This record gives sequence, C-alpha cells and structure tokens, in this order.
Amino acid sequence: MDITIMNLSKPKEEINYDDVFDVVIIGGGVAGFSAGIYASRARMNAVLVEKLGPGGQIATTNVVENYPGIPEINGYELGLKLEEQARKHGLKVILDEVKGVNLKEELKTVKLASGKELKAYSVIIATGADYKKLGVPGEEKFIGRGVSFCATCDAAFFKDKDVVIVGGGNTALDEGLFIANFARSITIIHRRDSFRAEKILQERVFANPKFKFIFNSVVEEIIGNEKVEAVKIRNVQTGEISEVKTDGVFVFIGMVPNTQMFEDLEKDEYGYIKVNLYDMSTNIPGVFAAGDCISKFLRQAITAAADGAIAAVAAEKYVDKIKQKVSKK
Ligand SMILES: Cc1cc2nc3c(=O)[nH]c(=O)nc-3n(C[C@H](O)[C@H](O)[C@H](O)COP(=O)(O)OP(=O)(O)OC[C@H]3O[C@@H](n4cnc5c(N)ncnc54)[C@H](O)[C@@H]3O)c2cc1C
Repeated sequence: MDITIMNLSKPKEEINYDDVFDVVIIGGGVAGFSAGIYASRARMNAVLVEKLGPGGQIATTNVVENYPGIPEINGYELGLKLEEQARKHGLKVILDEVKGVNLKEELKTVKLASGKELKAYSVIIATGADYKKLGVPGEEKFIGRGVSFCATCDAAFFKDKDVVIVGGGNTALDEGLFIANFARSITIIHRRDSFRAEKILQERVFANPKFKFIFNSVVEEIIGNEKVEAVKIRNVQTGEISEVKTDGVFVFIGMVPNTQMFEDLEKDEYGYIKVNLYDMSTNIPGVFAAGDCISKFLRQAITAAADGAIAAVAAEKYVDKIKQKVSKK
C-alpha cells in the first residue's frame, strides 16, 4: 500500500493511492471546493487535487462583495474558508498538479505531476481559467519588471507610480480600483469605444480622479530598458501611433480555460467544456465539469459554487448506479 502525506493549509493528510475513489475533483477554486463540500457531506470517498493553493482566482482579489450572505470578504480568506469547510466534512486534499487523465473507461485515471495516479468512478473538472496575454513585443520580457496580470500580487509595487491597464471588462475595472489604492495615475487603454464592465464599476472608475481613459486603441509594444518605460499604442480608427509613458502595465484582457488536457471532452470554440447545465455532465459518462472552465453565461464565484454543488450531487447519483451494477455482477 502506497501512503503519501500531502496537504494544502493543514498539516498531515494520508492519501491511499491504492483506493478507488468515488470522485476525484480537479482544481481547488470555488467550484472545486463547493463540489468537495457536497461530495464529502454525501459521504463520498472524495479527493481534490489543487496545484497552487485554495481559492483559485477568487483568492487573488481583495474584496468580494457580491457573494450572497457574505456582505464583504477578502478573496484569499474566502478560499481558506472553502477549504476548511470541505475538510471538515472529510474531503481529502492533495497539493499536486494533474498532468494527464484517462476518462473514457468506467474506472477513470488521473495522473499527477508527482508521478502518482488516482483511480475513481467519477471525475469533476473544476480547473478554471487563466489570464490571457497581449502577445506583443516586450510583454514576456517585462513580466515581473513592470508587466503584471494580477493586481493583488503586484499593485503595491506601484505606489505613487503611473500605470497603464489594458482591457475594458469587469476584471480590468475592478482591478483598476484596487490599483488606485497605490498608484498615482491609471490610464485604461481599451480597444472599443466603451467598457463592457458592470455599470457600477464604470461609475466608480469614472468618478475617481486618478483614472484617465484612452478608447479605440490597442497596445502594439511595451517599451523599456531594464524595466517598463512606455507603451506604444495604435488608434484602431485613425491608425495613429503614439506613446504613453508608464511605470507598469497591467493586462486584464480575458481568460483562457484550463481545459487543454481534456482532449476527449466536447468544448466550445473558445475551449470551454460543454456541459449539460441540468447536471453538469459532459459527453463522457462519469465526467462532470463546473465553474469557469465550462461554457456558460456568467463566470462568478456564486455560479462556480452552484456548478460545483450540482456536479457533486450528479456524480454521487452516477457512482451509486455504477456501484449497484458492480455489486449485482
Ligand atoms: C481579479 C478577480 C476578481 C474577481 N472578483 C470576483 C468577485 O468579486 N465576485 C465574484 O463572484 N467573482 C469574482 N471573480 C471571478 C471568480 O473568481 C471566478 O468566477 C471563480 O472563482 C471561478 O472559480 P473556479 O473554481 O471555477 O475556477 P478558478 O478560480 O480558476 O480555480 C481553478 C483552480 O484549479 C486549479 N488547477 C487548474 N489546473 C489544474 C491542474 N492541472 N491540476 C491541479 N489544479 C489545477 C487552479 O490552480 C485553480 O486553483 C474574480 C476573478 C478575478 C480574476
């Protein structure tokens, strides 16, 4: 028997890699831990694999104020609470990265970076999404030297500095408001003539004197020597090229779903996993998906939590049927 001890925030957890789990949950964001809470409360033998730490994206935001029943909470703290709640009900948690899967057979296999394997009757994919990059000269070169994708991580480095934000959705404006706690000025560069973000966020940035706005423009290059000094921008209507001096560039232009390794699953044109929204089932029996990695209308913590709950209950019903079938043989 192969026993390994791994954990996220708690000391000591014994994982028996010879077990056949009822469900393996891939990803420890809101969707994954929500699934974990429901699965473990239903007394499923459930294990969750997370590669970084509890909370996923929500852990990177400073204030969450739209999660029903919690008027205001720090995102990192919410991640810790989700993990605590799931563990309280018996969820096993492994800090490791899923590197491969075999989902087609009735007994699914999940391969970890550590070289271990997990076997399970069902799998819930809750791998979320990652930041999209601009793909312009200078971007890669200056990551960590002025180019950032995470305000919570890096905003404090820009105290009393001038920064540029690229993007016009909720993340761009929400993160911009957080950066405004540190930076002297924030110029938002957006390729369209208006923002897509929620009206309340727009009202807040327009009312804040630290913000300047450049619409109908795209960043063509990030310029500097040792660190970022300016961005070269192009007006998409006139073609005019100009430079904006800046100490930093925050890129908030969208997400890429973490679904590349799930080759056998049906996905939409952007790579999000297609599920039956009734029960979060995918095109492969016993495989469910939840949260930001699925094709859906609204990607938020509350919807990730709901998806995770539905996926776990559906997985429980599915596993019950499989076990009944096995016991009748
Ligand atoms: C800056 C910011 C602010 C936000 N603010 C709000 C807000 O105020 N309110 C709100 O409701 N929503 C907010 N959101 C959106 C919300 O965070 C997401 O919709 C939600 O958290 C998605 O949860 P998820 O579990 O589906 O995915 P994620 O949070 O993306 O979690 C996926 C997890 O899977 C892990 N993972 C991925 N691949 C693997 C692998 N191969 N092996 C192991 N683990 C893996 C990742 O490390 C990650 O922890 C915000 C998002 C951002 C980025």
